[in-house]
Amino acid sequence: MSEIEHPLPHASWETRGYWEGAGRGEIVLQRCPDCDLVQHKPRGVCATCLGSHLEHFVASGRGTVYTYTITNQNQAKGFADACPYVMAYVELDEGPRLLTNIVGCDPDAVEIGMAVVADFATQERDDGELFAVPRFTPA
Ligand SMILES: [Zn+2]
Repeated sequence: MSEIEHPLPHASWETRGYWEGAGRGEIVLQRCPDCDLVQHKPRGVCATCLGSHLEHFVASGRGTVYTYTITNQNQAKGFADACPYVMAYVELDEGPRLLTNIVGCDPDAVEIGMAVVADFATQERDDGELFAVPRFTPA
């Protein structure tokens, strides 16, 4: 079993703050000052009130496993050698749920409600950008 080799993220104007934050080891979320919604995925407008004054902030990096599955077979490049691995929705302490992986423990040790903390898989790139893919480990 090895680590997942994630495809390189593509940073659009909406997602650049998120990927750059991950490259610094931070979970960056958006907050709407008009209605207080904290949202993920990054968007150009608030998903609730359509306000356009969104602010980026660094989240705690803490959350709990909302749900998960253990993937035992995946033939896709970058994933096949990582089986079995855990795909999970982590509910961040700030509210949004993030589709991610749970690493750093036996897949059978993962439970719904388990406290987790962000960890980052930094990627080698040839374009000078420093991005990373957030994943989580037991807290
Ligand atoms: Zn709003």
